Amino acid sequence: MKSKILGVDIDGVVTDESEYEKGLWHYHFCQFLGRNVERNENIYNIYEAYDIDNDIINDFLGSIIPDIYHMLEPVKMASKVLDFLYKKGFTIKFITARSEEYKRQTQSWLMENGFPFDKLIHSEEKDIIAKEENVGVFIEDYADNAYKIAENRVEVILLDKKYNRHLEHNDNIYRVKNWDQIKNIILDLYNIT
Ligand SMILES: [Mg+2]
Repeated sequence: MKSKILGVDIDGVVTDESEYEKGLWHYHFCQFLGRNVERNENIYNIYEAYDIDNDIINDFLGSIIPDIYHMLEPVKMASKVLDFLYKKGFTIKFITARSEEYKRQTQSWLMENGFPFDKLIHSEEKDIIAKEENVGVFIEDYADNAYKIAENRVEVILLDKKYNRHLEHNDNIYRVKNWDQIKNIILDLYNIT
């Protein structure tokens, strides 16, 4: 039987960037540059989404990451759903590709915004971590991660985003629009009424 352990990504999954038409990062990148630039919205990776020198992108990221991690708003429904599942006996492990140097900041943000969790793991190799941590269902928004995690026979709930629509159908991946749907799929998968 599937473990009652949920792997949950942070950025794009429990963070709400919807008030910015093309994303919070894009908004701040334009501010940083002092002009509006084009972003390819179908691409997740910031270095590939712009026709701009990597050095400039690095300068931007270096100057803004802590501020952005601090100012991000949570998806309101996300903490409610996770709290509900936590009380139903699920273990919640946040698994993020954010650099380990932001661990303390990330932890504070999660707590301040009312997210229950048992563990916070920083790693870019989410497929490996999902196996090691015995994750039953993984909630993710990045197509490459979703694909690799599902290849390892871990079920993935994929939050629908422009940048992950190219991902082909996979029996282990459930595409959803919001946290209400996430809740319903998890209740279904675990036969909880
Ligand atoms: Mg993400």
